Amino acid sequence: MNGEASRYPLVQLCLADLHDSLSAPVSESMNFLNEVAQRFPDAISLAAGRPYEGYFDLDYIHRYLDAYRAHLMARLDGDEAAVRRMIMQYGRTKGIIHDLVAKHLAVDEGITVDPESIVITVGCQEALYLTLRVLRASDRDVLLAVTPSYVGIHGAAQLVDLPLLPVKESPEGIDLDDLVAVVAGAKADGLRPRALYVVPDFANPTGARLSRESREQLLRIAAEEDFLILEDNPYGLFGDPAGPPTIKSLDVSARVVYLGSFAKTGIPGARVGYAIADQVVTGGSGGSQTLADQLAKIKSMVTVNTSPIAQAVVAGKLLENDYSLRAANAREIDTYQGNLRQVLDGLEKRFGGGSCPGVSWNTPAGGFFVLVTVPFLADDELLERSARDHHVLWTPIHHFYADSEPRNVMRLSFSHLRPEEIEVGLDRLEGFIRETVGS
Ligand code: PMP
Repeated sequence: MNGEASRYPLVQLCLADLHDSLSAPVSESMNFLNEVAQRFPDAISLAAGRPYEGYFDLDYIHRYLDAYRAHLMARLDGDEAAVRRMIMQYGRTKGIIHDLVAKHLAVDEGITVDPESIVITVGCQEALYLTLRVLRASDRDVLLAVTPSYVGIHGAAQLVDLPLLPVKESPEGIDLDDLVAVVAGAKADGLRPRALYVVPDFANPTGARLSRESREQLLRIAAEEDFLILEDNPYGLFGDPAGPPTIKSLDVSARVVYLGSFAKTGIPGARVGYAIADQVVTGGSGGSQTLADQLAKIKSMVTVNTSPIAQAVVAGKLLENDYSLRAANAREIDTYQGNLRQVLDGLEKRFGGGSCPGVSWNTPAGGFFVLVTVPFLADDELLERSARDHHVLWTPIHHFYADSEPRNVMRLSFSHLRPEEIEVGLDRLEGFIRETVGS
């Protein structure tokens, strides 16, 4: 303070006096994983689930922005001031590209939705947070989640003090008997399961995809037990277009809140995602409202509105591709599918035919992730050793569990790598696994 010593000691805050979520293992996970990656910059990362950068082009940003600007000019009858205001001014809380997103959903996902029930958010992560914030009304409320599950859902649940009850996975994606049992147990304990969080298409971290039948069963169970389904779908386009329909497209009673992301299919740096929340909310004043309107109330107190500039860039990409992100991502889909095949073939070549007992892997049909089971606990300490001695990174699966107990599974991701990097990465992984098994 102007060189003058303060009469008061420097402020120190105690973690125990700050929000509980800060002490939760999951909040350490991202830091730890990023920190390991930074300390070993030469390591090949089979850990980062980032989109492929080989197709990034800064010129696209200008082109997309121009495409949206031209679209707005036509829509607003050439009123340049209105176009400028739309892109440069504070904007509508629920977003400005909801009509275009609705068209994209119809084209790519078979989802028909009123654009008014869409809230454009700062990434899907904000949509998750807003949804959980709105649903968590009392200490009795709990969230169900197929586990292992995306780190961001654990984090968002902790931020809003919503306990997460794990539901067992199955090779099929979700163990429906366990779901029914967990719901019954929760209700018997006086708890109120508000929603089930599920990534039905190429889940992060398991890569699993739910069959159509499981999706229908989920809708039935959710209706009978009266909870919502939070369908998070960032990877669905990176697989066979003839795959099962989105749960939302099968939903005729507004049972599903659909959470979308443009991070993998649009531009990750734009940070644009959305929620479809078409549930009617009764009991307020001023006529009928939807869950989307409630999400918007919270959003107005968190991020106010999603950057219209970022929305405009994403909108331009939609416009240029006749609203089809599947078409826009033809190259990316090929790349990710090719990488997936290369990883699966590469694992077979190195560990197949029982040449390394205890090592096995699953075989997802799309997405960014493969799980490898190993005959040892693949924990953070081993990840460090793998990075230091073998120059290869992977993600210990315990980061996707609330209990953080080390397990014998590692998640491999391959989305951002070139084929030659995948080959070297798998060679190094083989070296690490064989050394660990032998030791
Ligand atoms: N859901 C899942 C399953 C994810 O894997 C991710 C990010 N990797 C997100 C949501 C977050 O998406 P966004 O970047 O749009 O916030």
